[in-house]
Amino acid sequence: MHKRDPRYDVLFEPVKIGPLTAKNRFYQVPHCTGLGWLRPRMVAALRGMKAEGGWGVVCTEYCSIHPASDDLPHPYASLWDQGDIRAHSMMTDLVHEHGSLAGAELWVGGARSTNLFSNEVAMDVASLPNSIAIPYQARAMDKSDIRELRRWHRNAALRARDAGFDIVYVYATHHYLLSHFLSAKTNTRTDEYGGSLENRVRLVRELIEETRDAVGDRCAVAVRFSADDEGGKDGDPVINEHRDMLEMLAELPDLWDINIQDYSREMGASRFIKEGSLEAYMSYVKSITSKPVVTVGRFTSPDTMVSQVNRGIVDFIGAARPSIADPFLPRKIEEGRIDEIRECIGCNVCYTGDSTGTPIRCTQNPTISEEWRRGWHPEKIAPKGSDSSILVVGSGPAGLEATRALGRRGYHVMLAEAEHTLGGRVSRESSLPGLGEWARVRNYRVHEIQQMENVDVYFDNQMDAEHVLAVEANHIVIATGASWQADGRGLFNKTPLTELGPAEQVFTPDDIMAGRLPAGPTLIYDDDHYYMSSVIAELLCAQNIPVTLVTPETIVSAWGAKTSEQSRVQRRLMELDVQLITSHGLAGFNGREAQIECTYTGARKNLAVEAIVTVTMRSPNDSLFHELQQAVDSTGGYQPDSITRIGDCLAPSIIAGAVFSGHRYARELDTEVDPDNRMKYDRVFFDDE
Ligand code: ADP
Ligand code: SF4
Repeated sequence: MHKRDPRYDVLFEPVKIGPLTAKNRFYQVPHCTGLGWLRPRMVAALRGMKAEGGWGVVCTEYCSIHPASDDLPHPYASLWDQGDIRAHSMMTDLVHEHGSLAGAELWVGGARSTNLFSNEVAMDVASLPNSIAIPYQARAMDKSDIRELRRWHRNAALRARDAGFDIVYVYATHHYLLSHFLSAKTNTRTDEYGGSLENRVRLVRELIEETRDAVGDRCAVAVRFSADDEGGKDGDPVINEHRDMLEMLAELPDLWDINIQDYSREMGASRFIKEGSLEAYMSYVKSITSKPVVTVGRFTSPDTMVSQVNRGIVDFIGAARPSIADPFLPRKIEEGRIDEIRECIGCNVCYTGDSTGTPIRCTQNPTISEEWRRGWHPEKIAPKGSDSSILVVGSGPAGLEATRALGRRGYHVMLAEAEHTLGGRVSRESSLPGLGEWARVRNYRVHEIQQMENVDVYFDNQMDAEHVLAVEANHIVIATGASWQADGRGLFNKTPLTELGPAEQVFTPDDIMAGRLPAGPTLIYDDDHYYMSSVIAELLCAQNIPVTLVTPETIVSAWGAKTSEQSRVQRRLMELDVQLITSHGLAGFNGREAQIECTYTGARKNLAVEAIVTVTMRSPNDSLFHELQQAVDSTGGYQPDSITRIGDCLAPSIIAGAVFSGHRYARELDTEVDPDNRMKYDRVFFDDE
């Protein structure tokens, strides 16, 4: 085994947190999983995997203290009753098995709570509109409500202790109830909980003291708190009242978990925000408390981590996404295997699990959420089930992941790629503005494959059916991707547009990525609703091409709301002077004018443009697959055991979908899989009552 580079020793120092000691400085901060109380066995296994991977502290997602704080359809965790204690014990047991500490982030939503599940009336510091515009207003808390809240919080802290948690949080940020008490904007009270700084901080102070009183020396008390005040410019924080508040509370908790007001920066997509982006916000924190401090920054580089610790910015390296992309990141640093780290690419696909109330997915780590239900381990995979050879055609994310995972299983794998470079769409898309870090999807896999003697890679190999059959592999995997359509067909236009031309003035993302660019004013027609249109708009703006972006949606890049980047996308396009036209579909283009149609009224209007980029849907490149099926049916002699399509060739999707598809193929080869029930289901079973 390799040895750890002594440069990184500091990351493996134990750190005291109140009455307890974390074994190292790797701290998985609370993060959503889309699992929560709905899927306790899945979430327990997911968190346990982080501990196995070396994270010294592993926390829950936001964990409701009472049904009056309910966020469905976002599946939060909860500590409401004995059943919840049992569920969380599964997680804490797994975390403790690996010598790590488990943290519970107690949460009160206030006006941010939907309470659509519990049907309780939400309470907040004042009567406030629901923060996500659900038409149920929160009621103002009176003194007895505050007493009740304190009792709920205390009882939840006791349940957290009983569930085996080591760290119990007071959660005073992220625009939930406690941050509304802190903010002069929302806190309009005239009693001892409003007005002066001292008064606005009172409830947080009481909760810290009462949590400590409840959990005694068994657990540490952490506070999650924003380092800055609202209203600062991006990267240039206003540090005013929050600093004063932090000073007032500085020595009360055992640990400060610090974040910032702007969630789209804290959880920033790599397109906009780079590693370690909270540093300017953290500048003063360590100088005013002797307690250990943690923050996040999508840290994947051990050198950056060491620098953060050595320069006194943090004591713990906080991580959500880097721990999702690679649960074994600490172990890899510890064992001197840093070139094996599966670095987060900052795409925020993981966040769509919370946004949509569904199990978390990750572009880099296809095993996340699958630890319990499919029994997938991010680092271990069953040895091969036969001596079969496998030919994989296409080295996009699907083909690369299938090759990597099959190679790890010990199969003889041949990977054929038409191009001179590997990576398929990942290589193409990572050269678009802002998407450079996405190349990590390719780099991690290519690095692994290069170490494998049982994998042969053939570049510049455009395969047809004859070539494929000549290889005589036992299994054939077709991972040839998909191509963007140029006919305007998509979600809005169910059939191809009859008037869309001339062809030399119509472009697709494939053309743009291949360097074929329009000249003159261009209309980008976005019926895809994710990142592609907006990055192409950026690219064309950089060429001084006037751009109009038309979409049938009511906002641009609508799916980007699920990845917490929509507002930044829209702002960027507005700053670039892209003309944005929403709620319109494309009706036609004659080379001089585009005709667009209102999605509500059907009213049409013309726009003078010289080119169209259609970003609508893709066609699977599956002709090779079909040719092979026909060829095999009609020939005698060599017969492959299987021909399988994976990734975008099967069904065009996001990169995470292609990686998952490739991984699943590799996992399932030569294993018994029940085609009707490929996994276990984490759900409630009824007893006979
Ligand atoms: P996915 O996202 O499903 O992995 P990509 O579009 O990213 O798909 O990658 C498909 C890859 O397959 C591309 O690199 C492309 O060059 C390659 N490819 C397509 N057709 C052939 C072929 N007939 N022979 C070899 N490689 C091919
Ligand atoms: Fe990182 Fe993307 Fe994975 Fe999230 S989904 S952890 S942002 S690679």
